[in-house]
Amino acid sequence: MSLLHIDGSQGEGGGQIVRSALALSLVTGRPIVIERIRAGRAKPGLMRQHLTAVQAATAIGQADVRGAEIGSPRLEFTPRGIHPGSYQFSVGTAGSATLVLQTVLPALLIAECPSELILEGGTHNPWAPPFDFLEQAFLPLIRRMGPQVTVTLDNYGFYPAGGGRFAVQIDPQPRLAGFDLLERGPIQRRAVLGLVANLPRHIAAREVERILEKCSWEPAVGRVEAIRAHGPGNVVFAAMASKHVTEVFTGFGRTGASAEKVADEVVRQIRDYLGDDVPVGPYLADQLLLPLGISAWQSRGTSLPGGGSFRTGPLSRHATTHIDLLRQMLGVRIDVDTVEGRAACTVSVQAD
Ligand code: AMP
Repeated sequence: MSLLHIDGSQGEGGGQIVRSALALSLVTGRPIVIERIRAGRAKPGLMRQHLTAVQAATAIGQADVRGAEIGSPRLEFTPRGIHPGSYQFSVGTAGSATLVLQTVLPALLIAECPSELILEGGTHNPWAPPFDFLEQAFLPLIRRMGPQVTVTLDNYGFYPAGGGRFAVQIDPQPRLAGFDLLERGPIQRRAVLGLVANLPRHIAAREVERILEKCSWEPAVGRVEAIRAHGPGNVVFAAMASKHVTEVFTGFGRTGASAEKVADEVVRQIRDYLGDDVPVGPYLADQLLLPLGISAWQSRGTSLPGGGSFRTGPLSRHATTHIDLLRQMLGVRIDVDTVEGRAACTVSVQAD
């Protein structure tokens, strides 16, 4: 198969395009070259956490790789099949281990045999899916597509100390079923959880209290926990479960941001989600595009259904970048329909 050229600086232009292009190269078997990697960023090229994703993809695809070095603006990747099995991938710094999973999971979902992964690094990093989001929001939807995936957290890993670890068990299904997620329905369960590691408990308590108060949720749904980790860490989650979907919004504690500020960031996400009256929030939207795209791609030329649709709020740059990449790499059709005067849209992914 000929080498497919991907412009790494297109759209959002960050690490995501590298990870998703690798994921789709593994799934399709198509060799790729990614050029101008992170060209517009302050430190362009591959960084340490991207390299771990490249190494993980290389192992799963027994791939030939060129340009897998820190700072490299160009990566050539030729996979040789999908090789499920037992693997351990360590980011080595506090870089996000969940983003490494994003890179290899799609291929392992449709592999011929089960896989077991151990991932080490950050488990709760800003700008990456926190472990709890994977477990409660993303993976239940993946299970609806057929594969059975379970995750177990062994250690929390926060920036900058890292040291996190989780296990992933993947029972694949060669063809991904699609789904439609158009209605949210009433919220059936709400939960707010504040975690602190090596920091005063009152930080998480103030976050939880403020979210409950501002959202007028009953105090009984709030919980505070002091957990063990290598270094200091604080994170607060708000989960909302409705009939067909659970959404998880996260606030990351950090130096210079008060507990109240972190709580308000979560409140804003909750209000936006409820205000848009959609089932799928912004992070879930960009992450669902890939598996739905693969399902649509697998159904091409067959009479079997594949792909699907979901309703979400305004699309993020990550989501529009994913849409362009899926069109380029899978040749699937993606339509985004908006209703005049409303922020929400319907995204549908189909075989062309
Ligand atoms: P990048 O910025 O290219 O490294 O990609 C970040 C990825 O992490 C995207 O897929 C986002 O959807 C995801 N992400 C970032 N923040 C969150 C969050 N708070 N909850 C869930 N996913 C997130």
